[in-house]
Amino acid sequence: MKKSIVAMSLLLASSVSYATEHTAHWSYSGENGPGNWASLTPDFDACTGKNQTPVNLTGFIKADLKPLKFNYKVGDSQILNNGHTVQVVYDAGSDVVIDDDKFTLKQFHFHAPSENEIKGVSYPLEAHFVHADKDGNLAVVAVMFKEGKENPALAKLWSHMPSKEGDKIALSHTDNALDLFPQNHAYYRFNGSLTTPPCSEGVRWFVMKKPVFASKAQIEAFKHVMGHPNNRPLQQLNARVVME
Ligand SMILES: [Zn+2]
Repeated sequence: MKKSIVAMSLLLASSVSYATEHTAHWSYSGENGPGNWASLTPDFDACTGKNQTPVNLTGFIKADLKPLKFNYKVGDSQILNNGHTVQVVYDAGSDVVIDDDKFTLKQFHFHAPSENEIKGVSYPLEAHFVHADKDGNLAVVAVMFKEGKENPALAKLWSHMPSKEGDKIALSHTDNALDLFPQNHAYYRFNGSLTTPPCSEGVRWFVMKKPVFASKAQIEAFKHVMGHPNNRPLQQLNARVVME
């Protein structure tokens, strides 16, 4: 599977969809797979950093974590398949307050199986809600999916599933991303990175403790469209702690 080289453009400067912006062809297996990302181009040097994501969330440190205040509105504008994931681009105007700073939801996308693990448990699907503040600092909120009953919010999105790499389908701005969240917003927090090249660090990670459900058919539909697992292998925690 050959992909063209995309013009150089650094994610953190632009705050748009990171999964589509990279400087060299990378993949989830083979020669251009995760173990070799850092050697593909100097732009991917961070992929061998000490604060990388995903991780196995474990060894929790009790902390005074404030509730996340989600101020999400309807805002799905497009669903696209970039060959690495299926991503929903989100309108401006939805945010979450973190560390007294406003982070705006830019896009969310999916990984199967999950990238992060919770206490050694892998999930069949994980969603990443990618936010940026006005200075381009990133915060990602992760939601795990467990196999079970059908997920109505996911069903609405999947009805527009972009089945081929490069497909982009306009959405009707009627869905609220919060419908994909568990009711209980308790979370784990750690410092990490983008899980795709350029693997930039300094990303604030929040993983919802409670999973939501997706049906076997919904999980299979995503896996079928991807045609390959799209999870980066676990990275070492090193000196980091996971707060709860
Ligand atoms: Zn992701």
